[in-house]
Amino acid sequence: MPLLVQKFGGTSVADSNKILAAARRAIQAHQRGDQVLIVVSARGHTTDELVALAREITEHPPAREMDMLLSTGEQVSVALMAMAIESLGVPAISFTGAQIGLVTDSFHTKARIRNIASERIERALGKGKIVIVAGFQGVDEHYNITTLGRGGSDTTAVALAAVLGAAACEIYTDVDGIYTTDPRIVPEARKIDRISYDEMLELASLGAGVMHSRSIEFAKKYGVPIHVRSSFSDAEGTWVVPEADARRLGWAVSGAALAKDEARITIQKVPDRPGVVHSIFHTIAKANIVVDMIVQNVVLDDQAEISFAVAKSDLPDALSAAEAAAKAVGAGRVVHDAEVAKVSVVGLGMRTHTGVATTMFEALAREGINIQMITTSEIKISVLIDRPSAATALRAVHKAFSLEEAHEKPAPPFVPTVKPDRALKLVPLAPADAPNALPRGMEDLVIAGVDLDESQAGVALLGVPDEPGFAAKIFRAIGEANVFVDMIVQNVSSNGTTDLSFTVPRDTAERAAEAVRPIAGGRVVIEPNLAKLAVTGVGMRSHTGVAAAMFGALAGESINIKLINTSEVRINVGADIQSGQIAHQCLRRAFALDGDDNGES
Ligand code: ASP
Ligand code: MG
Repeated sequence: MPLLVQKFGGTSVADSNKILAAARRAIQAHQRGDQVLIVVSARGHTTDELVALAREITEHPPAREMDMLLSTGEQVSVALMAMAIESLGVPAISFTGAQIGLVTDSFHTKARIRNIASERIERALGKGKIVIVAGFQGVDEHYNITTLGRGGSDTTAVALAAVLGAAACEIYTDVDGIYTTDPRIVPEARKIDRISYDEMLELASLGAGVMHSRSIEFAKKYGVPIHVRSSFSDAEGTWVVPEADARRLGWAVSGAALAKDEARITIQKVPDRPGVVHSIFHTIAKANIVVDMIVQNVVLDDQAEISFAVAKSDLPDALSAAEAAAKAVGAGRVVHDAEVAKVSVVGLGMRTHTGVATTMFEALAREGINIQMITTSEIKISVLIDRPSAATALRAVHKAFSLEEAHEKPAPPFVPTVKPDRALKLVPLAPADAPNALPRGMEDLVIAGVDLDESQAGVALLGVPDEPGFAAKIFRAIGEANVFVDMIVQNVSSNGTTDLSFTVPRDTAERAAEAVRPIAGGRVVIEPNLAKLAVTGVGMRSHTGVAAAMFGALAGESINIKLINTSEVRINVGADIQSGQIAHQCLRRAFALDGDDNGES
């Protein structure tokens, strides 16, 4: 019998009528012949109220007691839901996290799931009961109650769907799906009918309001189809699915996202020698700061500038870590800008469409918005701009890709099928300084692969004007010269100029350089001997230290890093072509990929 997991968020169980409505929905599925497991959140604003209550007692409540307190919200919901279902004549039983053996690590208030024992749930389902599980909570190995972090019920639901081999996980919420962008900023935003896991992860800041990003990582790792939909209507919502099910042709960009509260840190005059980058990001990872958007251009003189973005709230800690790191490696000044925002466009179609970057940069140029930093992945382009322009930038970009128009007929409703044994094999993160680290649980980071690309060359534009429209002009010219650009990296400017690098197939590098020389207004240099190494994985968004582990492994082989470019799901590094093979091998070793055929394909 197929199993369906349904998760109801706080607004969907806010009062008794809503709880009864949710109960009816579960019963409908049960009567269709599905086994049904429900995961519920705390009602309405219960969790916020409990947090506030604790703060009235003390500014610094012990994390263990916070979890003891917050877990009660979900316990109330499961009991009421079970009563509702029983009152409608269907047998039901509720469980807390501890009762189903949902075991986590011991990081109170942000615990990660290690394991879930499925027997008790399976027995109850087998008796024809609707099973209701409290979201967001578990126990550590000493039976201390833990919680998974705010919004964590989504992660509970997807994890249970994975463990029990459910056909799908339905996420019932107060919006009717995932939109092309935030409709509060761009009212023309449109509901997306299907999106892939990687697009969702790359759009994390867009999806974050709707879904916990750890739940998407989970879904990707175990191939669980997710249906995000409204609890107040029967309309199809948005399916978040494996790439093969999401791909639609003729459509380059799926969505645009804004991360409003970012801060940028730049370390100037970083000595260009092996080990330096590692030392910097190791120091920052140790401070437990999640780093976003790392950028280093092609270095041709012997000093580099490295920039990265962090959440604005992490800025003070990130700055002290960066200053300590800069000092230790003999770098120059550390400068920062706390008033920046990140705008990204994402789409699987970017792999095959050229000109996406040009369209995005031109849209920003028309609004007179200056681009401070650029990074790209295969399916995403992100730019850092100043915060006051953020909403204008998002609107302009959304419009430039006509995201408000339905490009095609809606996809037919997705029909999930259960594929046995679909889970990615677990591979531990084994950073250089913990070579024997073993996977400890279901939510551990999984590195899916390390790729080496020896076919590209770098083109660097050094000391070029830092002004609106510059990148647009450059990539328009390159497009007209018929050159396909892979990675784009722009670093923040010092003294009014900036450095812009990109990679292209080696035999087109000369043509690209010629196309931009007359308009670059700075030095144009080709770096023909570039090897590109890409680390991809699941969990890179929420685990700190992946970049540090990658840089550490390269440092261990004395490989110099020439260029860095990151996204939510991959880290790209450029190294000297002579070190390409060695770098590839040492990264495969560092991430324990040797001798295994890992990855999805
Ligand atoms: N009740 C928890 C929260 O408000 C968990 C959840 O709703 O997902 O964060
Ligand atoms: Mg939520």
